[in-house]
Amino acid sequence: MSSEINNIIYLVAAVAFIFALKRLSHPRTAVRGNLIGALGMLVAIVITILIAIDDPDISGLGYWLIGIGLLIGTIAGAVFAVKVPMTGMPQMVGLLNGFGGGASMLVAASELVATLPDIREALSSGTINTALYFFVGSTMAAGIIGAVTFFGSLVAAGKLQELKWVPNGNVIPAQQLVNALLLLLVLAGAVWGTYDLTKVWVFWPIVVIASVLGILLTTPIGGADMPVVICLLNSYSGMAAAATGFVINNNGLIIAGSLVGSSGIILCQIMCKAMNRSLANVLFGKLGTADAAAKGDDVYAGKVKSASAEEIGMLLESARRVVIVPGYGMAVSQAQHAVRDLSNALEARGAEVEFGIHPVAGRMPGHMNVLLAEANIPYDKVKEMDDINSSFEQTDVAIVIGANDVVNPLARTDPKSPIAGMPILDVDKARTVIVVKRSLSPGFAGIPNPLFAADNTLMYFGDGKKAILDLVAALKAAA
Ligand code: NDP
Repeated sequence: MSSEINNIIYLVAAVAFIFALKRLSHPRTAVRGNLIGALGMLVAIVITILIAIDDPDISGLGYWLIGIGLLIGTIAGAVFAVKVPMTGMPQMVGLLNGFGGGASMLVAASELVATLPDIREALSSGTINTALYFFVGSTMAAGIIGAVTFFGSLVAAGKLQELKWVPNGNVIPAQQLVNALLLLLVLAGAVWGTYDLTKVWVFWPIVVIASVLGILLTTPIGGADMPVVICLLNSYSGMAAAATGFVINNNGLIIAGSLVGSSGIILCQIMCKAMNRSLANVLFGKLGTADAAAKGDDVYAGKVKSASAEEIGMLLESARRVVIVPGYGMAVSQAQHAVRDLSNALEARGAEVEFGIHPVAGRMPGHMNVLLAEANIPYDKVKEMDDINSSFEQTDVAIVIGANDVVNPLARTDPKSPIAGMPILDVDKARTVIVVKRSLSPGFAGIPNPLFAADNTLMYFGDGKKAILDLVAALKAAA
């Protein structure tokens, strides 16, 4: 096949990726968007295999390796996709980013090895051209970014999986300073090796240093910030892929890598904005600790009121407007179907029911939207924070299910709080707030929540799913 036809097919795949991204931005169109993206990837893979079959440089062993790689990748991808629970998605995305970065690093390394004779020949005959400099520069970029992404992602996934042996926090003295020095070293090495092609061997030590950098950059980042880091590493994996696209002259890889790189960085910005923090603060700062905030005992002592399912059932019986606010606990307890039953039962009694979604509720962007969509909750009832906040004053009951930080009024009132300035869902302004969770334990930010001790709050302690099913039964019994 001519390279023009190959490029046209890659362009078709790229258009599919762009349509997919557009459609992924709304739950109603997301499933189809995902399919279009997968189809685009299938087209890109098939054309790449056809190009490989046409390539006279690939031997019988090469075909075997490609076949074995495809088989392992397909089986591993399918098994992970089916087995990994929703709460494990951030780790899975982390690993996928890592493999993307690792693949870019390996492709860059193997291309460099394959091109070394040409570089030596060009050096001895004095025929070095711009294309060769560009090749080496791209190889250095792909190797460095790929190595940072691979090792950073492994640490990130391990931390999210709460593996005890994965380092958490600073592992060496003056870690940020060491990181800055390593970064300088890596950049200087890459420029040196590209400028003076007799020093192209520098690729190997800088990839090793970049691997160490990937680990050291990720270990100090705090638990609640990990999803931002996952997005950033996702963006890096795209940049590494784009650089590899230049290395092997593959337009499909350049476009797809650029799309991943830019969408990942946009997502980072959205998440940072929702947490009212800068990316630099997430990467190099430290989320305030519980020590900086009031102790739970001071906030809760003697002020927390809990209610039985029957009492809450009677309260809900007379509610005209109810807003349900889900959080991480709904995901953990898989309560979304029970929540839909509660919403239906309330509507059957004439109440208006809406859902309020905070942009960082749960452990990844869109976490709650996906779960509610899975339970067939109509999209028009699911409102973003900015759209629903003004209506809490006219809300009879706000039901908070497994959410904590995203409804913590300290974000508004305490400038010293670790979550100070983070926009929150103003559930405390509703006439009555019912909070469903298992205990008074803090959320990811590790701070107490005065909402639980507020005059208008009733706690209903229990596992999210069981608690909501109890409330549905109580509501039906109250009829
Ligand atoms: P939180 O982590 O603040 O709180 C979740 C609550 O769920 C806990 O207090 C816990 O209380 C409760 N819970 C856990 N398991 C269950 C269960 N089985 N049944 C009922 N309740 C349960 O979650 P939010 O969603 O409110 O906030 C998300 C946090 O993650 C924020 O700090 C945000 O900044 C951070 N974050 C999120 C990102 C994202 O993309 N979504 C990105 C970056 C950070 P208990 O143990 O008492 O049950």
